[in-house]
Amino acid sequence: MSKKIVIVGGVAGGSTAAARLRRLDETAEIVMFDKGEYISYANCGLPYYIGGTIEDRKKLLVQTPESMAARYNVDIRTLSEVTRIDRENKTISVHDLSSDQTYEETYDQLILSPGARPIVPPIPGIDEAKALFTLRTIPDTDRIKAYVDEQKPSEAVVIGGGFIGVEMAENLRDVGMNVTLIEMANQIMPPLDYEMAAIVHQQLRDKGVNLILNDGVKAFKNNGTKVLTQNGKVIGTNLIILSIGVRPENELAVNAGLSVGTRGGIQVDEYLQTSDPSIYAIGDAIEVKCYINKQTTMIPLAWPANRQGRLVADNMYGKYTPYNGTLGTSIAKVFDYTVSTTGNNEKTLKSLGINYEVVHVHPSSHAGYYPGASPIALKLIFDQETGKIFGAQAVGKNGVDKRIDVIATAIKGDLTVLDLPDLELAYAPPYSSAKDPVNMAGYVASNIVEGLIETVQWHEIDAIVENGRTLIDVRNSSEFKKGYINGAINIPVDDLRSHLHELPQNETIYVHCQVGLRGYIATRILRENGFIAVNLDGGYRTYDQVIRDKLDSISNKGVSKTNG
Ligand SMILES: Cc1cc2nc3c(=O)[nH]c(=O)nc-3n(C[C@H](O)[C@H](O)[C@H](O)COP(=O)(O)OP(=O)(O)OC[C@H]3O[C@@H](n4cnc5c(N)ncnc54)[C@H](O)[C@@H]3O)c2cc1C
Repeated sequence: MSKKIVIVGGVAGGSTAAARLRRLDETAEIVMFDKGEYISYANCGLPYYIGGTIEDRKKLLVQTPESMAARYNVDIRTLSEVTRIDRENKTISVHDLSSDQTYEETYDQLILSPGARPIVPPIPGIDEAKALFTLRTIPDTDRIKAYVDEQKPSEAVVIGGGFIGVEMAENLRDVGMNVTLIEMANQIMPPLDYEMAAIVHQQLRDKGVNLILNDGVKAFKNNGTKVLTQNGKVIGTNLIILSIGVRPENELAVNAGLSVGTRGGIQVDEYLQTSDPSIYAIGDAIEVKCYINKQTTMIPLAWPANRQGRLVADNMYGKYTPYNGTLGTSIAKVFDYTVSTTGNNEKTLKSLGINYEVVHVHPSSHAGYYPGASPIALKLIFDQETGKIFGAQAVGKNGVDKRIDVIATAIKGDLTVLDLPDLELAYAPPYSSAKDPVNMAGYVASNIVEGLIETVQWHEIDAIVENGRTLIDVRNSSEFKKGYINGAINIPVDDLRSHLHELPQNETIYVHCQVGLRGYIATRILRENGFIAVNLDGGYRTYDQVIRDKLDSISNKGVSKTNG
């Protein structure tokens, strides 16, 4: 007898599961419910439709209920909210939103892919704010787009500097609005560490976004035409986008007595089965294991939802493939820059008490002599003993995506930093260098693992100099004059050998250059001559990007629309 599989949620995870189920079993009865009007649409493209980069709304609809039903013979019921699961009788209650009728439907197996919804905190004045929007669905998008096109607002406030907030800030700038982005933390885009986010802050300010960090929204006044911040700023606005994060849609699961974790994610085993063997759950609504540190976490991204959609179907048909955890590889466009990360950042590793080492390199996206090359700030985080790769972050104008994808692949292939120099990657001058940025990061990290070099980080060097240690800036004098670390003495690397007699013998000497390479050479010269020498990782550029960010943050650089 054919089995009946019911799916709750028809977008990323749900639609993928439905299609795979049908390909595995032509006879199963598959019923997919979505409380919205649309299924299988491109959530990730929604900000770009508002900003006008995607012009044709139809392109957002990857599948319509009709096209999917025709191809996969799935019974698709939109505008149908599943309101209850009766596990004992294996039925669900469905509220048909068009007719306002409620009915029951049986299942043999149930897949929950209800996603996550935007967090809307009870900020004073939020209910009266007339032009306050969140962005998740096509109707949300239509509402924002219609408001922007018809009301032509000039001032936008985006609350929350996660990926969606930052993408919206860019897209609202693209339609000509003045944009203020308010973020409670000291940085935007949490998967980045602060010094990497500092580059993105700079880009936002350069593009005229009024970036407010370390501040939260206290209240909305005058029907949401004024935003009051905790630090006393008052910002006039006629459009607010609230994007401070999402929470799992777990009510069905909780009410049915399924296990959920402390952050509300539905708990599943490695085969995506919930605490009820007939019920599976996937996507943004579930807890996952972090691929790197094996702790439970929640990572609401499209790749995990799609992967789990396929695996859940396989597992239901006996082709048992475990879900191995989420690495959190992510990418976003921020005006002229691409920002991408994979694995764990320093903040996460620190909070878990995991020891790690870090390298920052700033290689060119491709050969410097071929037009159009631009630097990539690439950070690699790894275990100093074993070389295990914990994570990587990259920010730059070109070639960021493939470098992070290569490192993400290396992580999944259990390669260590010692293997990265040996990756034979495609090279011709328009695309890369004979030593690709990933090779370069691998070389630098290997030097640390092999004990050829010791480094200090950008946040340690000021205190070291203040404690009276010697810091040698080995750049040339014209570079030094443009900006230097207080207390540094300038001895260009090529002159270093003739100055050795001036240097202290029995204490650690610190060295830096612009990006780390000449500092490394200088460190080797010093060590080979019997000195104890340590290089500043990432050089002056990594140090300076933080200093500039702090100064800009204080002076509130950007198009300030702050009213008194
Ligand atoms: C604006 C935006 C941009 C994004 N950009 C990116 C990106 O660039 N890269 C990336 O990796 N990820 C991105 N994401 C995240 C990505 O879209 C999600 O991780 C992914 O869609 C999750 O899939 P899912 O199946 O768990 O949930 P969803 O795709 O959200 O689907 C859940 C569906 O279930 C329905 N539903 C919920 N409860 C019920 C119920 N009780 N009855 C019936 N139906 C129900 C909902 O209406 C919804 O349609 C973005 C998300 C948004 C909103």
